[in-house]
Amino acid sequence: MGSGAVIVIDENTDMVKLLWRITKFYAHESCGQCTPCREGCQWMEGILHKLMTGQGQERDIDLLVDLATNIGGKTLCALGDAAAGPVISFIKKFRPEFEAYARGQKKHA
Ligand code: SF4
Repeated sequence: MGSGAVIVIDENTDMVKLLWRITKFYAHESCGQCTPCREGCQWMEGILHKLMTGQGQERDIDLLVDLATNIGGKTLCALGDAAAGPVISFIKKFRPEFEAYARGQKKHA
């Protein structure tokens, strides 16, 4: 049957921080058996942390999408898809928030 989850957030939620937290979870949970998930999740988590701490660049946003695209559908179990999906959809729906971090207009305390 599969599984699902619902996270309820308000409009004040920092979407970059939320995506970093979700990605950190998947990076921690990856069993390491397949390369796209093992390497990609760690890489995405690191890039998101860089963005959040003011060390990111705009090209990192597209790199995140590229990494996620190369994880989805290319792993042994569904954890890879579950990790890639939020990255692609968060950036698609909330890209200006990621750009604000990349341009130094916003920085996580
Ligand atoms: S996709 Fe699944 S099998 Fe592959 S490394 Fe991630 S958790 Fe392990």
